[in-house]
Amino acid sequence: MKPEQREEFKQLILEQIEEVEEEIRELEEMTKPIAPDNALGRLTRMEALGSKSVNEAVLEDKRMRLQALEGALSRCESETYGICTKCGQEIPLGRLAALPHSSRCIKCVNK
Ligand SMILES: [Zn+2]
Repeated sequence: MKPEQREEFKQLILEQIEEVEEEIRELEEMTKPIAPDNALGRLTRMEALGSKSVNEAVLEDKRMRLQALEGALSRCESETYGICTKCGQEIPLGRLAALPHSSRCIKCVNK
């Protein structure tokens, strides 16, 4: 990959990191403990707990994505970025554009 291309992907990754961090902040707000003595009725409280666990699962997912993006950002500094860590072939640019934190080509991911 050309250095200019790596630079473009680096910008893309930085943008995505910002987005994910923002989403994580919102989700953290939504997954705060629900006080037992809040003004909600019993049923509403059950619903609140239900959506809380959904949000917690999403939050966990976002945190993993953030880690993957941060890993990609550091790979972006080196020439190994865009090279499949398994087979050593270049990862197609289209795949990287959709998922800039990819470290494997489609063939190796599907194995
Ligand atoms: Zn591969």
